[in-house]
Amino acid sequence: MANKRDYYEVLGLQKGASDDEIKKAYRQLAKKYHPDINKEPGAEEKFKEINEAYDTLSDPDKKARYDQYGFDDPTQGFGGGAGGFGGAGFGGFEDIINQFFGGGRRSSNSPRQGQDIEKQMSITFEEAVYGCKKKIRLTVDDECIHCGGSGAASKDDIKTCPKCGGRGRVIMRQQSIFGYTNVETNCPDCNGRGKVITKKCPECNGRGRVKRTKDVEITIPAGMQTGMSLRMEGYGGTGINGGPNGDLYITFQCGEHKQFKRDGQDIYLTIPLSYTQAALGDSIEVPTIDGNVNVKIPAGTQPGTKLRLRGRGTKNPKGGSSRGDQYVICNIEVPTSLTAEEKKLIEELGNIEKKSSKSPWERFKSLFK
Ligand SMILES: [Zn+2]
Ligand SMILES: [Zn+2]
Repeated sequence: MANKRDYYEVLGLQKGASDDEIKKAYRQLAKKYHPDINKEPGAEEKFKEINEAYDTLSDPDKKARYDQYGFDDPTQGFGGGAGGFGGAGFGGFEDIINQFFGGGRRSSNSPRQGQDIEKQMSITFEEAVYGCKKKIRLTVDDECIHCGGSGAASKDDIKTCPKCGGRGRVIMRQQSIFGYTNVETNCPDCNGRGKVITKKCPECNGRGRVKRTKDVEITIPAGMQTGMSLRMEGYGGTGINGGPNGDLYITFQCGEHKQFKRDGQDIYLTIPLSYTQAALGDSIEVPTIDGNVNVKIPAGTQPGTKLRLRGRGTKNPKGGSSRGDQYVICNIEVPTSLTAEEKKLIEELGNIEKKSSKSPWERFKSLFK
C-alpha cells in the first residue's frame, strides 16, 4: 500500500477539490491515457490508476472514507491491484469507458490460451499409495483441421471486409456521458478481423473449432491424497490464433483401505494383542505398505499404545524423498471363550492377584479410603 499514489495526486488535484474539478481532470487524463489512443509503454497502468482514483473520488461515500482514512480504511479493502477493486461498480464504470472509447481493446485476431479443463478422478487406496498410470478421455476444443481454424470452406472464401476495408476498425458517432464523439470501434461486420467469410467450412460450420476427444495418459505420483490436484500443462484445449494450449487439472478422490487409515503422509493401523502378549512382550510381523515388518512389542504394553514405524508412511506426491510414518495402535483383546485349561490357569493368576496389593483394582479402591 505504501507504493500507492494518493488519488488526488493521480488526478493532479489538491485535496478538497470539487466534484466538477475531479470530473474535469479525470476526463482529460482518461482520454490522454486510454490504451486505444495512447500506445506508449505504461499508458495502460496509468489509465488503470486514473480509473481507480476516479472510482473512489466520484463516489461520495467512498470519497468521504478516503478523505478520512486514506488507504487505511478499516471497513474497506482498498488493497489495490486486482483484489481491492474489481467490484461490480468498477466493472460497470469500465464498461462505460469502453463504450465511450469504442469497445474491446483486444482484437479478435490476437493469440489466446486454449481452455483449461478440470476433471475429478477416483483412485483406489493402492493406486494412491504406490502411484500409477491412468488413461483419461477428454473432450477438448480443437482447431478444425479442415479449414485450419479459419472457418472458411476454402481460401477463396475468405475476403477482405468491405465495410472496414480490412482494417477491422470503423469510426462511429456515439453518444456517451461525455456528449457526442467520433469513436473508433471494432468493425461489426467482421468482428474486428478485417476479413469476412463468404462460405463457411462445413466441418466446423464456420467456428474454426471442433470438439475432439483425446486420450491422455497421466502418471499419478505415489502418495496422492484426496483433494490434491495435478496440473498438466498444455493438455487442455488447443490455443487460439497460435496461443498456448490450456492446461488440464485433475483433482483426486482416494479410496480407503479396510485396515490402513491415512492421515496426510502417515498411516495408522490398529492391531489386536492378547493380554499375555501385552504383559510379557512379543516380537510380531506387522503389515505395512512395504509388506510385513518385524515389530517388538515391549513387555507391559498398555491398550492404546502407539508404536511408531519411522518412514513406513507414504511418499510426498509433490516430490522429495521424505516419507511419512506408520503408527501401530495396540488394542488388547480379552478372550470371550476359554478352554478348561486356560480357565484354570487364569483363575490361579487371579488368586495371586487378589493377594497382591499391586492389583489394579486394589490400587483403585485404596483411593477411596
Ligand atoms: Zn473448419
Ligand atoms: Zn470489417
